[in-house]
Amino acid sequence: MSNDKPLSVEEVKSLYDRLSKDAEASGYHLNPDIDFAKELVRGLLLNQRRYGYYACPCRLASNNRLEDVDIICPCDYRDLDLNEHGVCYCALYVSLSGLKGEKKITSIPERRPSPEERGKKAEPLLKGPGTLPYPLWRCKVCGYLCAREQPPEVCPICKAKKERFEQFL
Ligand code: SF4
Repeated sequence: MSNDKPLSVEEVKSLYDRLSKDAEASGYHLNPDIDFAKELVRGLLLNQRRYGYYACPCRLASNNRLEDVDIICPCDYRDLDLNEHGVCYCALYVSLSGLKGEKKITSIPERRPSPEERGKKAEPLLKGPGTLPYPLWRCKVCGYLCAREQPPEVCPICKAKKERFEQFL
């Protein structure tokens, strides 16, 4: 497809609908401001055309998939930002409290490390027994395990709610 061809309303709607459906099925939510969310979806589609991957629409991509792998949507920072601020950096995704209007959706600080920091060799996640950087959560329904600050709102495998998770480690 030519990069010059304008994006159609249908293309934007199609990706918006897919992201929205996937988000709701996995315990995530798109920004309730549909026009705003669709503008971000448009940015994702433009980046897909430009770079060949869905680079975050609010960040400058390098056109090198390996260098940008942490900012391919959903980026590595989404869940941390949702937990801490109730919104991802672009505000495409919001937490349940953001969706219900209980938490104000505002711009948040960038959490992505600088290029220099990213270039450094990553510290091993496990430095020994019992040293996981995040608690390990287990879905009591299907046994799904995930290491993160909080359990997901919905189990991505069996769709059980957050309260069905227990801290495993
Ligand atoms: S900040 Fe939001 S829109 Fe940007 S890549 Fe992360 S999840 Fe996607």
